[in-house]
Amino acid sequence: MKVYFLGHAAVKLEGAKTVYIDPFLTGNPVASEKKEDAKADYVIVTHDHGDHLGDAFDIAKANGAVLFAQHEIAVKAQENGIEAEGMNVGGAVEREGIKVWFTNAIHTSETGHPMGAVVEMEGKRVYHAGDTGLFGDMKLIGELFKPDIALLPIGGRYTMDEEQAAYAVKLIKPGIVIPIHYNTFPIIKADPERFKELVGGEAEVRILNPGEFVEI
Ligand code: ZN
Repeated sequence: MKVYFLGHAAVKLEGAKTVYIDPFLTGNPVASEKKEDAKADYVIVTHDHGDHLGDAFDIAKANGAVLFAQHEIAVKAQENGIEAEGMNVGGAVEREGIKVWFTNAIHTSETGHPMGAVVEMEGKRVYHAGDTGLFGDMKLIGELFKPDIALLPIGGRYTMDEEQAAYAVKLIKPGIVIPIHYNTFPIIKADPERFKELVGGEAEVRILNPGEFVEI
C-alpha cells in the first residue's frame, strides 16, 4: 500500500482500493492534487472542519465513492445523495476488505464529535489521528491497533505541537510516523526536523512533501 501525503492533513491510501482521508484540496495552498483529478473508491472524514471535510462530499459524489464518517456527517452526506457509512468511535465497518475504525480525538467539530481513523487494507494499518491534542489513550490505540504508520498533527495551536506529537509516538509505538497539519498556513508553523529529533529512535519519521508517499 502507498500512503500519500497530499498536503495539510489530506492523505491518500493506494492499494487494492483508493481511499482518501480528509481531502481538503480546494483552497489548500500546498495541495498536490486537484479535486477534479481525485479517483476515489472510499473517502474518510475525521471531523467537520473545512480543512478536513474539504472536498470530501464532492469527491465522493463525482466518483460514486462511499463516505465513512461519524453518523451525523454521514446523514448530511446521504441528504446530498452520497452513499455513506455512518459510524462512531467503536467497532470496525468493513467494505471490500477495507476496515475502518474511528478513535477518539481531543478537538472540536461543527457536527458531532471529532475523531481519528484507523484503516486496514491488505493487512496493513494506518492511523490518521485527525486534529487532536495529546491524550493518554493513544497508548490504547497503539496497543489495540498496532498501526504500521501513524499520521500525527504537529502544527500546534489547534493540535499537538512537535513536542507533544513526539510524546504521542512514545504512546502509540508505530513503525513509521508521518507528521501532518503543519506549515499549510503561518498560524500552524512547525519544524518537522525538530519533531524527528524529539522522536529519536522511537519510530522511523518520514517527512513528506505534498505528493510524496511511503510504501508499506
Ligand atoms: Zn479541526
